[in-house]
Amino acid sequence: MEAGSSAAAALVAMALGAAGAAPLTAQASVVREGYAMGTALRIELVAEDDSRPRTLAASEAALHAVERTEALLSTWRNDTPLARLNRAPIGVPQALPTDLATLLETALDWSRRTGGAFDPRVGALVDAWDLRGTGRAPTLEALGRARAAAGDAAFTLGHGTLARLHPDAWIDAGAFGKGAALAAAADTLRALGVTRAWMDLGGQLLVLGAPAGDPAGWGVRVAHPSDRTRTAAHLRVRDASVATSGASERGVEVDGARLGHILDPRTGAPAPAWGSVTVVDADPVRADVLATALFVLGPEAGLALARTLPDTGVLFLVTRGRDAEARWNPALERWRPAVNPAEPVDSRSTLPSTPSVGRLP
Ligand code: AMP
Ligand code: MG
Repeated sequence: MEAGSSAAAALVAMALGAAGAAPLTAQASVVREGYAMGTALRIELVAEDDSRPRTLAASEAALHAVERTEALLSTWRNDTPLARLNRAPIGVPQALPTDLATLLETALDWSRRTGGAFDPRVGALVDAWDLRGTGRAPTLEALGRARAAAGDAAFTLGHGTLARLHPDAWIDAGAFGKGAALAAAADTLRALGVTRAWMDLGGQLLVLGAPAGDPAGWGVRVAHPSDRTRTAAHLRVRDASVATSGASERGVEVDGARLGHILDPRTGAPAPAWGSVTVVDADPVRADVLATALFVLGPEAGLALARTLPDTGVLFLVTRGRDAEARWNPALERWRPAVNPAEPVDSRSTLPSTPSVGRLP
């Protein structure tokens, strides 16, 4: 499937979660699975037993919220406001739709706050390394040209406008698009009165409330950075998003070396594959942005930044041979299971992310 083409809800299933329970107490879930933003989407909403039709409608609305975000941000098709901005004439400030302007202002603010570790204005560098193709190591000259078309040299923000500054410059929504889609879906679900929900968009999670009978929250399995079938940690979360960035699973191969899909905009080169970072935050955009930024910063500088974030839980998993060493900031404590951190809560997982606005793998 061409990534940007309109998402399809492949399957809608309604199942009784509590098998054999009396009808008055039964909890029904509406599960919807499909593809959106070039990646897998799963929506699971818990309905009280008298509200299944409303819950089904809410799942449809959440899917549409994701599709609207894709229609705003995709750079794999040329009809979105972001794709048009990416073709804008050089030096002419472009007025943007309010939702896009707000998102890009937030993204560029994070670029500043992370010292450029996160910067969606990396398009020219993505091209130089052919990260959307089979991969290539650019010549020094080509890398220099790409760096001169990225970051502050690529786009500049005005009052609700953005000006493109270089013919090779484009903005890649890959590092914040999934968060934006989940934020839109969460707003939609809350407005429709949904109180318990689990969404997974390409490995980034969004949960509302807690599962019935489990007020501590939804159990989240954090995968080992280099083997997603193994569990490295468990978390319990309510009303939050969980995003993981890592270089181990995706990427391209150049001269026998594996290049991750996350670039360090400060050097122009792919960030080294040291492990993965998982971020828990009430705001899905912040979780997505920070996972990418903290991966680029790495476990040392990243943990220093994470310690300054009082409401954002951060877990670094540093690969050590077959094992992974865990480091986390104080804010993560509230999401660590109180009883036994090794307790196998369930099989749901957060994984190093797959492309959020891209082709299906
Ligand atoms: P994520 O998987 O959320 O960490 O985002 C990675 C994707 O964002 C990549 O596939 C690129 O499309 C884009 N990207 C790569 N490096 C950066 C960066 N340092 N800042 C912002 N976007 C990036
Ligand atoms: Mg991200």
